Amino acid sequence: MTVKAYGAHAGTLPLEPMDIIRRAPGAHDVQIDIAYCGVCHSDIHQVRAEWAGTLYPCVPGHEIVGRVAAVGEHVHHYRPGDLVGVGCIVDSCQHCAECDEGLENYCDQMVGTYNFPTPDAPGHTLGGYSQQIVVHERYVLRIRHPQEQLAAVAPLLCAGITTWSPLRHWQAGPGKKVGVVGIGGLGHMGIKLAHAMGAHVVAFTTSEAKRAAAKALGADEVVVSRNAHEMAQHSNSFDLILNTVAAPHNLDIFTALLRRDGTMTLVGAPATPHDSPEVFNLIMKRRSIAGSMIGGIPETQEMLDFCAEHGIVADIELIRADQINTAYERMLKGDVHYRFVIDNATLTD
Ligand code: NAP
Ligand code: ZN
Repeated sequence: MTVKAYGAHAGTLPLEPMDIIRRAPGAHDVQIDIAYCGVCHSDIHQVRAEWAGTLYPCVPGHEIVGRVAAVGEHVHHYRPGDLVGVGCIVDSCQHCAECDEGLENYCDQMVGTYNFPTPDAPGHTLGGYSQQIVVHERYVLRIRHPQEQLAAVAPLLCAGITTWSPLRHWQAGPGKKVGVVGIGGLGHMGIKLAHAMGAHVVAFTTSEAKRAAAKALGADEVVVSRNAHEMAQHSNSFDLILNTVAAPHNLDIFTALLRRDGTMTLVGAPATPHDSPEVFNLIMKRRSIAGSMIGGIPETQEMLDFCAEHGIVADIELIRADQINTAYERMLKGDVHYRFVIDNATLTD
């Protein structure tokens, strides 16, 4: 069927309304009426061809929430009317070691929610800036938050899981000192989740104006990273630093803050590389720089359930679909508090 969407025909063009085709639900598929879709910085990198291999037309969006409209005959876990979400993954091989462990995000054949090859028209996946999506039930998440929080739940599907997964993997919790670098969509969720896990949380920002807000999000301390004196107060002290910055920057000022055996995990994915790290910063204290990509389906459900239980949602600014290009410009200036979410009901003629 044909549905309304917002996307771009080239990396140099703004996003505009377009019609796209969704497949009829197959036996294992869930057809979802999309209520809201969060706006991730990855959407900007991809639609503007900052990362290699963007396919056009490109319809971004992988923070999808809505209600089930219909299900295929072999779908047993979902019924029409259920509140559900779809994150960054819509398919994978389903039989490799990664899929068996519920880490579909690391499957070599993972199919992303947009810009990945698919048999469906137009030959690549199209994301959540659209009225509907059809997804195999394995990649559909149940949402247990109340309906009135639905828009603010959307960012959990990427910003939430991308910070949750490394915080869990590197065991953030009581007694651990955790830094979160960059207070945007990912960073603000990282602060909320690390705080809820019981860690001592220090937020790092380049924006003096975000100092008070970061405390309100749950940071125990806030450091303006341009201030060398403030940075020096924290040398050799962090167990884990989660770095969400969307641009290349000096990593050494952060690795110097790790304690012996501490790890800085990069989740920000800039279009161009960081300068190489200062090796002595690493070897003198056996420090690590690591990376982490989104999260698997079971841990995404675990994160959603944890957030429902603890009343955690994103701080959002709801926009109409036709405000998306302005929202991108604001994100590039760091002017977002802290996630734009599209009201997909505005995707009309
Ligand atoms: P965002 O909302 O735009 O936030 C990024 C934050 O980084 C900004 O708010 C700003 O925070 C800081 N920042 C940006 N440019 C900077 C610069 N030049 N120097 C220093 N700090 C800068 O972006 P997001 O949606 O959170 O995404 C962040 C990055 O993660 C993107 O590269 C995105 O593609 C990537 N990502 C990765 C994964 C994964 O699986 N690994 C998943 C989703 C997104 P302050 O104002 O506080 O400094
Ligand atoms: Zn994302």
